[in-house]
Amino acid sequence: MEFQDKVVLVTGGTRGIGRQISLDFANEGAIVIANYYHDDNSASSLISDNIDVYKADISSEEEVKKMIDDIISKYKKIDILVNNAGISNDSLFEDKTKDSFMKILEVNLVGAFLVSKYAFKYMENGSIINISSTNGIDTNYIYSLDYDASKAGLISLSANLSKLSSKVRVNTICPGWVDTDMNKDMDLEFKNEELSKIMLNRFGTCKEISNVCLFLASSKASYVNNAIIRVDGGKR
Ligand code: NAD
Repeated sequence: MEFQDKVVLVTGGTRGIGRQISLDFANEGAIVIANYYHDDNSASSLISDNIDVYKADISSEEEVKKMIDDIISKYKKIDILVNNAGISNDSLFEDKTKDSFMKILEVNLVGAFLVSKYAFKYMENGSIINISSTNGIDTNYIYSLDYDASKAGLISLSANLSKLSSKVRVNTICPGWVDTDMNKDMDLEFKNEELSKIMLNRFGTCKEISNVCLFLASSKASYVNNAIIRVDGGKR
């Protein structure tokens, strides 16, 4: 199996896209630590022989440091890190505040920085995959300007991290619309408008994002570094 005995940390790994990534790595023989912050029930339902869950707020330096220390004392190494945890806050421009903007940055961008920083020194011949968004490339939505900025920042963070060490490849996935809880309250009219912009005429599945993530972490992608891959069904 491709990931036999590899230690994989997936942030936000117990729900949505992250949950699928955790399950797929585990099915390929990896030992997975699925970090999460919300929803203890979905986390405990994921625990299995080779999936452990770890509750920590990735925007807290203290909690991230402790999480990495605990993982290293238990598993001795980290081979693959997937910075997947993310939050959004669609709201009117005039309703956004400094605090609400900072909260998005702290989780989506600073959180990915902190986990990468503390994990990096334990990674040898490893791989980091950052889950950004097409919103980080195409800034089309005034309602999510804070989220879009955080995802653009994550693309920039990936580029810099990819130049840190020849032993750690760092790549970015930019999903378009994916069917997860993040979009569960979407207005139907807006959803239809968005669907009309997608060549494949549907939202993506968590599996379709996870497939690309596992490819990037695998030996098949051994010469792929600092790549940005859109997985959006061909969004216009
Ligand atoms: P989701 O809301 O279903 O899951 C997000 C996960 O992040 C949850 O497990 C949550 O506990 C975790 N999380 C949130 N804040 C955290 C924190 N402070 N510390 C630790 N964990 C935290 O979301 P999803 O749709 O599966 O999205 C996963 C990633 O994919 C996100 O980064 C998101 O921005 C990105 N993305 C999603 C879509 C989409 O359409 N769903 C599109 C593009 C990009």
